[in-house]
Amino acid sequence: MTPSLSQELFDRARRVIPSGVNSPVRAFGSVGGTPPFLASAKGALLTDADGREYVDLVGSWGPMVLGHAHEPVVAAVQDAATRGLSFGAPQAGEVTLAEEVARRIGPIQQLRLVNSGTEATMSALRVARAATGRDVVVKFAGCYHGHVDALLAEAGSGVATFAMPGSAGVTEGTARDTVVLPYGDRAALTELFAQRGDEIAAVITEAAPANMGVVPPPEVDGVGFNRFLADTAHAAGALLISDEVLTGFRASAQGHYGIDGEGWAPDLMTFGKVIGGGLPVGAFGGREDLMGLLAPAGPVYQAGTLSGNPLATAAGLATLAGLDDAAYRTLDTASSTLQQLVADALTAAGVPHVIQRAGTLFSVFFREEPVRTYAEAKAQDTAAFTRFFHALLEAGVYLPPSAFEAWFVSTAHTPEIIDRIAAALPAAAKAAAAR
Ligand SMILES: *Cc1c(COP(=O)(O)O)cnc(C)c1O
Repeated sequence: MTPSLSQELFDRARRVIPSGVNSPVRAFGSVGGTPPFLASAKGALLTDADGREYVDLVGSWGPMVLGHAHEPVVAAVQDAATRGLSFGAPQAGEVTLAEEVARRIGPIQQLRLVNSGTEATMSALRVARAATGRDVVVKFAGCYHGHVDALLAEAGSGVATFAMPGSAGVTEGTARDTVVLPYGDRAALTELFAQRGDEIAAVITEAAPANMGVVPPPEVDGVGFNRFLADTAHAAGALLISDEVLTGFRASAQGHYGIDGEGWAPDLMTFGKVIGGGLPVGAFGGREDLMGLLAPAGPVYQAGTLSGNPLATAAGLATLAGLDDAAYRTLDTASSTLQQLVADALTAAGVPHVIQRAGTLFSVFFREEPVRTYAEAKAQDTAAFTRFFHALLEAGVYLPPSAFEAWFVSTAHTPEIIDRIAAALPAAAKAAAAR
């Protein structure tokens, strides 16, 4: 058998790139096999180096919410490119993008653009520590906030996929300043604040966890978990950082904050993924008094040679411009239809599963009972997922190669595209059921 071009590329890649990839989950470590090397993408379709076509349910992990190579976005980037690739000086696109984010999301009074979600959470945490003069950060098991030293403990996403407790190379001092609690555990948070409230700079949470699969924030007596976090942190003089890198501009027009943000506000928020429309953009923002701490006016240093890059802001602006009410309705329909199809196929094949959603985001857990915590997310049948994954890949449907990730639809997931997925689901569900 002649080896495929993807296989040849993967072999070459592994010689010069650790594990052959520039971000761990892409290596297919948890599902096995050779990752297709992609050559091009258009709308909801991917084409690999061997010319095989797939319906995409990864969407570059979120940014491609309007589909791949969406014409207005490509045109905006091409147009910007003719006017210069990078200035390292202020340009209008940065202002317009920050204004658009502030217009959509109430708590954003000021915003800084960076180059990734990781940079955004790292910088927000620095601001929170400077503002409070405290060191400790509280995070929740299963929430992923990028590969920031202080935030890697019990992170979801790739860290979940490879069952790593955190990361080697993080100092003990850094780890000591991070307290990890089970997601949704109000009693544990109350207890921690009672004991160490005056040491805590911030609580950081995903607005709706989506890196251990999707876990919607639980409501108790009409009080949502995010609101509870804000109230508890504020009562102790600590801040709440709401990480909307994944949910921002996807869960709804106002991100997840648009779903449960009433009568409370996070102090700082972080963005990434959709805000760059496929180019490297992250952002953090919030209260003006906190953002005013940033250099050069304030004492908190934060900078970036390529931050606010004109191509990146053009892609982000064109993407947000395409995300009108009709686009969110299309996303919602595609997401709901797909959830129903998956549920029907898995039910028909007798595969235990539960589908959870937050706005237009959803994921499928291969277990019977709802998932509320990271421990519960890990207690799923990942072997069943792996069989399901490979059957779909074989049939030309490209799922996230991990049982701990959300599935991503785009506005290019038309009924015809959904039909192609529907045609592949029954056999994949049977494969999942077979032991
Ligand atoms: C993806 C993600 C990040 C990290 O963003 P990068 O751009 O990959 O650095 C941070 N937080 C959440 C919630 C994410 O989903």
